[in-house]
Amino acid sequence: MRSEDHVRDVLGRIARQDPDIRSMISVLDEGPGSAIEQARAIDARIARGEDVGPLAGVAIAVKDNICTSVGTTTCASNMLRSYRSPYDATVVERLRRAGAVVVAKANLDEFAMGSSCEHSAFGPTHNPWDRTRVPGGSSGGSAAAVAAGFCPLALGSDTGGSIRLPASHCGIVGVKPTYGRVSRYGLVAYASSLDQIGPFARSVEDAALLLRVLCGEDAHDSTSASLPVPDFALGLDETPAGLRLGVPRQARSSANNPEVARVFEEAIEVYRSLGATIVDVDLALLDHGIAAYYIVAPAEASSNLARFDGIRYGHRASLAPGEDLFDLYCKSRSEGFGPEVQRRIMLGTHVLSSGYYDAYYNTALKVRRAIKHEFDTVFSSCHAVLMPVAPSPAFRLGEKTQDPLAMYLEDVYTVTINLAGLPAMSVPAGMARDGGVSLPVGLQIVSPAFEESMMLRIARAFERATPWGSMRSPMASGA
Ligand code: GLN
Repeated sequence: MRSEDHVRDVLGRIARQDPDIRSMISVLDEGPGSAIEQARAIDARIARGEDVGPLAGVAIAVKDNICTSVGTTTCASNMLRSYRSPYDATVVERLRRAGAVVVAKANLDEFAMGSSCEHSAFGPTHNPWDRTRVPGGSSGGSAAAVAAGFCPLALGSDTGGSIRLPASHCGIVGVKPTYGRVSRYGLVAYASSLDQIGPFARSVEDAALLLRVLCGEDAHDSTSASLPVPDFALGLDETPAGLRLGVPRQARSSANNPEVARVFEEAIEVYRSLGATIVDVDLALLDHGIAAYYIVAPAEASSNLARFDGIRYGHRASLAPGEDLFDLYCKSRSEGFGPEVQRRIMLGTHVLSSGYYDAYYNTALKVRRAIKHEFDTVFSSCHAVLMPVAPSPAFRLGEKTQDPLAMYLEDVYTVTINLAGLPAMSVPAGMARDGGVSLPVGLQIVSPAFEESMMLRIARAFERATPWGSMRSPMASGA
């Protein structure tokens, strides 16, 4: 199939069906560098017999906090509603080199702060399995677009669960790489010591292919690791011999939704039947993850977002006669940032203020180190750890927007992994009955740092042994 036909098909689906779920903020369907233009260029190169890369002609959606030199990069915020990046993020450059065609910029929680994709200045994204539900966040638009069958691949970013959570709620594969695996250059920073970009795909193999394209050292990001990048798709079907998988006692919390608990236990049994040894392990600090994360992440966010002051960057408010510079800062930031972002800035500024710094920020950093140490201990006795992704399946739109703490608790199983800098992924693991509908639920696999190859192989073994990876949402199957 020619890339142009594929891309036209993708754009057609988005035009027809996206009004039902609103996964995209903008579609790159016009002007220089448009998706069609990119696709034609790839087709021409193929016709000339050139080597066009592993993703030649494939359509991909990019989360709208990742800079693209074509179109806008809004971060789903009024602060950046009309922002045009002068450059491509390193990952976008890598996509282009691999032949991929960027078709659209996907919706997210404003500045990636949220767990449901409802905190967007462009309105919420809906879950393609049940449009009354959230797709999970913050990369909800990217996950929903893949789950709805619009495009086979998408990019998200994960600071505390934002790839794994929507992957789980939308029934697709999502990978959060080791901190440092993928360049953050051109990712609008939320919490720089936690942020990582990663792939969404319908299968483990596709995720592995895309991940390889994204990874590698980058002179523009000093935290990117100078390690060789393996071919993650190679040997994907080989399950590690003598596989030992840790199941934290704390992950079997009575607070889990009973259907999530059932799917999790069944997933463990699948691995047991494949010959894996299941080891009970302790992650005693799991319960402190939320507290530590919601200090560290807002602290970094308050610092990163300080640049949006209406002068150097971002929306500039108009002033009434007699108003001064202080009013300009206040008005621009009040108009530009939504309520959740403002809450994070206030939280972050508070925990960093003198007098509170030691009590909050420094304590959280100590917990962070202890969490890392706990994972190290667990990995001395097993290859990987299994956990649920979230305590509940996709909830209803509006259900948690008035209760920030309930929203934060959605991240209980994901944030510790970012604090420890580890790779983790969500793979479809079953269906949960909830309120008369069936909703996908993911299994989270966590591996030691830079062991993505092994993690993907463990996921692939599960995918091969179960029917869950081939389930499609009603939208994708044309229903
Ligand atoms: N839900 C978490 C937060 O709001 C994680 C978001 C993310 O990973 N970007 O901070």
